[in-house]
Amino acid sequence: MGIVEQIGFSLISKTLQENPLPFDTYGAISGVFVLFLWLITFLFCIMLIDAKLMTRKAATVIYLITLIIGGLIMAAIPNPLLPIQEIFLALASRNDLWYLLPVLVVLSILFGTSLLVGRIFCGFACPLGTFQELLSLINFKSNIKQQKKNKFHFEVSRQVTNKIRWLFFGVVFLFALLWSILILPLFNPFSGFLFLHPPFDFTLLISFFGLIVIGIASIFFYRPYCRFLCPFGAGSDLLSRFAKNTYQRTEDCTECGLCEKICPTQEAASNSKKGECYYCNRCVEICPEDAIKLNLDG
Ligand code: SF4
Ligand code: SF4
Repeated sequence: MGIVEQIGFSLISKTLQENPLPFDTYGAISGVFVLFLWLITFLFCIMLIDAKLMTRKAATVIYLITLIIGGLIMAAIPNPLLPIQEIFLALASRNDLWYLLPVLVVLSILFGTSLLVGRIFCGFACPLGTFQELLSLINFKSNIKQQKKNKFHFEVSRQVTNKIRWLFFGVVFLFALLWSILILPLFNPFSGFLFLHPPFDFTLLISFFGLIVIGIASIFFYRPYCRFLCPFGAGSDLLSRFAKNTYQRTEDCTECGLCEKICPTQEAASNSKKGECYYCNRCVEICPEDAIKLNLDG
């Protein structure tokens, strides 16, 4: 095994120690507990958004709780890349495919919520997502004047993010096919959260470095990892386009276009599919007519 495969193998072992998948009793209990936490977060966020109580302060408190508890204390729980990684590894080894069943259940539940209400998971429950969202607050405002003065935010169109995303996946999977499937964990920045958990291990430095780069990029580009590179995000984007229960304009809308100007992902247009809407609430905050609501009757 070469050095890269050794690091990949070591990352998988460490991630599984910290975030065991539900294929033994302890893992099953942890898996059910994490799903339970996610469902509570999910219902709580829907309730706040629907009641128009998801203010900037409330959202920031939720981002911080997710980042501190899920990211820093629990070392990246939930980690939506882990089941995807497991599927590839199990398919490559052609062993123990039975244990993919609980992994598939976890993924289906996460993706199922995208199909229902869009990217609530990415908006509030993903530690890496909330890490990027918090840093985006530096340069991505809910105020057109402030945003115009601010030279340090860069818009990237949806077409470009899609192209980069699929090109990146193509290159990574080509490498994995030609070289070794064990290079996949190197592209999982969630493992970077483990770096802060003793004992210190240099193999985690690559993922930690990835996390730092993503953090810095998030100040200038809105959620760069989610929009350019995350495989769960890519799947969730596709499914969320079918979600009916998302932010919609009401008849109070005067077509002033402010929400479209402020949305960092170009998803505020009335005919937008909302695949990349992270419930950041910038459109709701800027709307002078209070004409953007969560449509739960869809
Ligand atoms: S796209 Fe990926 S990194 Fe971003 S919030 Fe969703 S799961 Fe997390
Ligand atoms: S549509 Fe609104 S909530 Fe969704 S990403 Fe755009 S500004 Fe944020």
